[in-house]
Amino acid sequence: MENLVLIRNAKAIVTCDATDRILHDTDIKIEDGKITDMGRNLVSDGCEVIDGSHAFVYPGLINTHHHFFQTFVRNLMTVDYPNMLVVEWLDNIYRIFKEIDSDVIYYSSLTAMADLIKHGCTCAFDHQYCYTRKTGVQPVDRQMEAANLLGLRYHAGRGCNTLPRSKGSTIPDEMLETTDGFLTDCDRLISTYHDPKPFGMTRIVVAPCQPINSYDHTFIESVAFAREKHVHLHTHLGEGENPIMVDRYGKRTLHWCEDIGFVGPDVWFAHGWELAPEEHASLAAHGSGISHCPAPATLGGFPILDIPSMLRKGVGLSLGCDGSATNDSSNLLDSLRMAYVMQAFHSKSRNGAPSPYELLKIATMGGARTLGREELGSLELGKAADLFLIDVEKLELCGTLHDPRNLLARVGVSGPVDLTMIAGKVVWSHGQFPHVDEHLLAKEGNRICTERMAPHFPMGSIV
Ligand SMILES: [Zn+2]
Repeated sequence: MENLVLIRNAKAIVTCDATDRILHDTDIKIEDGKITDMGRNLVSDGCEVIDGSHAFVYPGLINTHHHFFQTFVRNLMTVDYPNMLVVEWLDNIYRIFKEIDSDVIYYSSLTAMADLIKHGCTCAFDHQYCYTRKTGVQPVDRQMEAANLLGLRYHAGRGCNTLPRSKGSTIPDEMLETTDGFLTDCDRLISTYHDPKPFGMTRIVVAPCQPINSYDHTFIESVAFAREKHVHLHTHLGEGENPIMVDRYGKRTLHWCEDIGFVGPDVWFAHGWELAPEEHASLAAHGSGISHCPAPATLGGFPILDIPSMLRKGVGLSLGCDGSATNDSSNLLDSLRMAYVMQAFHSKSRNGAPSPYELLKIATMGGARTLGREELGSLELGKAADLFLIDVEKLELCGTLHDPRNLLARVGVSGPVDLTMIAGKVVWSHGQFPHVDEHLLAKEGNRICTERMAPHFPMGSIV
C-alpha cells in the first residue's frame, strides 16, 4: 500500500535547491518516500495530513563523521583531550575503548542516533572502528538494528586498526585486526546491507581508521577492494598526524594518500585542519571532500578551517558531529551553529565568513554530495522526503522569522525539532519516537553503561 503524506500549508520551505528558493504557504505531497508535488491547495485524498502552517520546513541534515560507540565515554574530564596532544589522548582513550562490548555498541549507537534525529538529522555516516575481543565482528550489525528501530538512513563505515603499539601505533592489542579479517568482514557487510540504489536506507563504506594506526598495505588493499565493490572510502586526515607520517614515510598524509590512490570523488576525509592551502587545491582537483567537525576543533583548540578559501577552490565540504569522546553531543544543529560562530570569529582575517545559510547548505547538499546521494539534501520534486519541521510560533523565535534560510545557524534552535521525517515516514514528532519507548531504552542504556563501562573509567572522573 502506498504511503501518502501531505504537509499542508507550510509557513516557509527552505528548499536548499540550486536557486535557493524559499516557498511560502505551500504544500508538500509525498508518495512512497519521495516528494511528488509542491504547490498550493494540493489534493489530500488518502493522505496523512501534517499541519505546516506554524512551521518552517528544512531538508534533513546529513552527518558525515561520527563515532557512535564513544557515546558512553562522554563527560569524562580526566581524559579530556584539550589538555593533551591528540596522540596522547588516543593513547588514554583506547584503554577505555577496549572494554566496549556488543551491547555497549547497540545502546551507545541508539543514543547517538536518537540525538541526531531529534535535532533534524535524517542521514548519518558513522565511522565504526571499535572492534574489541568483547564486540567480535558484530558492531555494524548491532548499529543496523538500532538504525532500523529508529528509522534512520544509515551509512556504516567499517573501520579497523592493524598496526601494533610495538610498531608505533596507539592501539591496544585487544583492538587490532588483520587486513584480511577486515576486508573479509567488509565483504560480508556489503553483501548483507549495502543498497547502492537511489533512496536506499543502508550503505557500507570502507573506512580504515587513520593512516598512522594501520599498516600501509591495509590502506592499499582497501582502495583496491572498495573500487572493485563500488563503495566509498573514508579516513581521518590532517588532525595532527602529519609529523608522524613525514617521519615514517617521508611525506604528509594527503601526499601519501595520493600515492596509494586513496583520493577521488568516492573518498572523503574527516577534519583536515592541518591542510595547507596548496593541499586544498589538490583535494578539489581529486574531488575528495572534507567533513568539517567544529566541536572537536573548538574543544581541542585546533586551527579553524579556512572555509571561504576552501569553497573558492571547490573543496566539497560537509558537516560532522565527530565522536562523542570529542564532542559529547550528537546534536548536528548545535554543530551547525558552532561552525558558523567559529567562522564568524575568524572572518576579519578570512575575507568574510560564509553566511549561516551557506553553512546550512554544507550540512545538507554538501553532505549529500559527499556520500554520493544526489537524491538527498534538498527539497525538490523527485527527491527523498527527508526533512524536519521547526514550529516557529514560539516566544524564543519571535522577531527572527523574516529570514528562514539563515535562522538555524545564526539564531539556533533550542531543544529538539518538532518533527523529523525520513523516507516519508515520521520518525520523531511531538517529543516522541513513534512505536519506541524512549524511557525504557534510556534506562537500559544507563544500566549497560554503569555495569560495563563505568568500572573502567579513570579514578577521579567525577570531580
Ligand atoms: Zn573521528
